[in-house]
Amino acid sequence: PRRLLLVLGDQLNADSRLFDGCDPEQDLIWLCEAPSEATHVPSHKARTALFLSAMRHFRERLRADGLRVRYLALDAHDHPSIDAALAADLAALAPAQVHVVQPGEYRVQQALEQTCADAGVALRVLEDGHFLCPLPDFNAWADGRKELRLENFYHWMRKRHDVLMVDGEPAGGAWNFDKDNRKRFGKQGPGTLPAPVGFAPDAVTREVMALVDARFPQAPGGLGHFDWPVTPAQAEAALTDFIDHRLAAFGPYQDAIWTGEPYLYHARLSAALNLKLLEPRRAIDAAVSAYHEGRAPIASVEGFVRQILGWREYVRGLYWRQMPGYLDANALDAHAPLPAFYWSADTDYACLADALGQVVARGYGHHIQRLMVTGLFALLLGVEPRQVHAWYLAMFVDAVEWVEAPNTLGMSQFADGGLLASKPYAASGAYIQRMSNCCRRCPYDPKQAVGDSACPFTTLFWDFLARHRERFSGHPRTALMWRNLERLDRERLAAIRTRAARLRESLATT
Ligand code: FAD
Ligand code: SF4
Repeated sequence: PRRLLLVLGDQLNADSRLFDGCDPEQDLIWLCEAPSEATHVPSHKARTALFLSAMRHFRERLRADGLRVRYLALDAHDHPSIDAALAADLAALAPAQVHVVQPGEYRVQQALEQTCADAGVALRVLEDGHFLCPLPDFNAWADGRKELRLENFYHWMRKRHDVLMVDGEPAGGAWNFDKDNRKRFGKQGPGTLPAPVGFAPDAVTREVMALVDARFPQAPGGLGHFDWPVTPAQAEAALTDFIDHRLAAFGPYQDAIWTGEPYLYHARLSAALNLKLLEPRRAIDAAVSAYHEGRAPIASVEGFVRQILGWREYVRGLYWRQMPGYLDANALDAHAPLPAFYWSADTDYACLADALGQVVARGYGHHIQRLMVTGLFALLLGVEPRQVHAWYLAMFVDAVEWVEAPNTLGMSQFADGGLLASKPYAASGAYIQRMSNCCRRCPYDPKQAVGDSACPFTTLFWDFLARHRERFSGHPRTALMWRNLERLDRERLAAIRTRAARLRESLATT
């Protein structure tokens, strides 16, 4: 072939630049299901099944469009990795050029570059047109700034793309409606929630589910709840369902948690977006239309737009700007092992059991569970950031490194020393008590920091403040939180720290 057009598992958009000028007579589209993608870090069974199913659906679509596709199915080759399979095909097919859209992971891009260089075949890496902020533009925005804050980037993007702008001013008169967006459900709970549309596995998905079970029996997580969109049509249906039934309440309840309710008013669109079954501009436009039609308030629509036009683009820019060093960041010098219960959900801490239980069962946790339950616990315990990163990359159906790593290492673990977040997201059990009903069914007490019923979050929160006093107590952004330490007398703090040390010891061995 003249060109080998490489499609990776998270690049399933038929309007990709990769296909510009594609000539089926001369160009061969190439996809590979590689076992190493499911094993170089562990991968939740649902995550692997989602990628494979979406890839196979995409293959059918390309073939139906009359394009020539070489598809290496997992059970039809024995190359361990994409680069090994590619090396073999470069030798066998001798293409003049390889084209690929920029991968979502630095490691993959390196491997492809190396493989093509070794084979003496020219590789062209194309800018990914799926995103709304091309990387050179992000870098131009970032260059020369002292701080790369989301808020500034987001305002710039709103103006640039003319989203929710009225005569140069933000719609609704403000950039931010956070004060309206911190509701909790109260004693009565959320009531009957709108059940999100789910997609029962079709024959293609059932086949890959059986394959995943057979090939990766030791992989974490289950397949019993699999209902993710695997085609663009399903992704569009999921978007419509969200806009019609959950967007209006999305903003106010963004930060709330309720036991046994994995989705609440969240969109469930991240996997579809990250696999490029759905375009971010489409999701934004749908939400903005709902606002103009009076179907959703500005606080919810702005909140949703901020996540996609702001956060999603911003973390991607940061990722590529900081790689390859970013994964080694460990600003808080954290070295504890990740507790074993992260992989099994086997713990009697009610909030963690709930959040982890749904991750193990479904490969999904909503943002505030990721940040303020599973992430917070690892932060307070002082888990080595690399291990936290490996867990988040493995366990969520939407995990792709460009978005997972900055969220985990930057936002949640403060491992980058404040590049992404202006201060650590540290809190005690009182926060979880306020935002959820978890503590009501927990054998521990969020108010207690010592004693048998002490909440581990509360114990570890004080210990965290004490451990990092020097770094944060003098800084204007964090001094207020650290001032809390002054309220504790020395004896009490010593008792808390003894308990924290014991906790850390016991969690290291279970
Ligand atoms: P909603 O809450 O309904 O939000 C709507 C959309 O906004 C999401 O689909 C997503 O595309 C986007 N979005 C929201 N928050 C973020 C964010 N912080 N960064 C980037 N995009 C955002 N998101 C991933 O897509 N993949 C990951 O691997 C991932 N790992 C995370 C790890 C940690 C520790 C944390 C704190 C967050 C992580 N996030 C990740 C961000 C966010 O939690 C998820 O995007 C969101 O929970 C997905 O569920 P949803 O589609 O129901 O999102
Ligand atoms: Fe979680 Fe602590 Fe509340 Fe238990 S008491 S649910 S461990 S915050």
